[in-house]
Amino acid sequence: MATPSEQDPSVLGGFRRGLRRVWSQAYDKMAPEKDRDKSGETRRHPHSADVTRRDHRHKSKDSSHKHNSKSTDSSAEENYDSNNKQNESKAHENHSENGEPERCAICMDDCIKPKRLNKCGHQFCTECIDQYFNSVKPQCPCCFTIYGDIRGTQPDNGTMKFIRTKHHLPGYEKSNGTIQITYFFPNGIQDDRHPNPGRPYRGTRREAYLPDTREGREILKLLQKAFELRQVFTIGQSRTTGQENVVTWNDIHHKTHYNGGVENFGYPDSTYLSRVRQELAAKGIQ
Ligand SMILES: [Zn+2]
Ligand SMILES: [Zn+2]
Repeated sequence: MATPSEQDPSVLGGFRRGLRRVWSQAYDKMAPEKDRDKSGETRRHPHSADVTRRDHRHKSKDSSHKHNSKSTDSSAEENYDSNNKQNESKAHENHSENGEPERCAICMDDCIKPKRLNKCGHQFCTECIDQYFNSVKPQCPCCFTIYGDIRGTQPDNGTMKFIRTKHHLPGYEKSNGTIQITYFFPNGIQDDRHPNPGRPYRGTRREAYLPDTREGREILKLLQKAFELRQVFTIGQSRTTGQENVVTWNDIHHKTHYNGGVENFGYPDSTYLSRVRQELAAKGIQ
């Protein structure tokens, strides 16, 4: 399924580029004449210098990348000098075990006003991680530990309903029956979170089945939470028909048939409930 990956490195890359632009513009606006240093150049936020350093590090590896980075961020590079570096290093409060200031994986520079995430222990500039959590998602960009509800790109106008039936799914003969979930999405227009903003997408109607057992009811609750967080569906290419611009599943597997086993997206499948619980947990839903 063509879904925007949770862990797409380009998300972080795009965020970094955006961050540099924002800071660069902010400093251009803020910097009055008195902030100009001896060389006559405007002082910049130290983060705007990260391209320079990365270029040094990757010089031998990837000359084309280096060229691209330079062409897009040349103004940042021109405004970076060693005097600035010395002055700014005083602002660093935390140091790693070897005495070096810890690096922020977002701006790729030394951490300024470091903030350490409480679950995974990764450390970033307070400003970098706050902006990342607010504008990208509340998830550690290094190890993907989740720090809050992550909203997906599922269209807002869908519905999720369920009924209980007396049918017994294969492998759940002693259950109370079956929980039959119906999802419905009308056709609509893609917005800027989707692959082709402004273009129409095709809606869908899907049915899925869970055993009416204690575990099945727990999974239903988690699926309801996932639906509220817009995580169950996305817009992309249908895995079954190959059609683009359709509402399609978003990596939380559903049983769309009563029977036929795993190959037929049905039961029996003794590990399905634990697998789908893991898939939900991977999206921060547990
Ligand atoms: Zn940073
Ligand atoms: Zn982490």
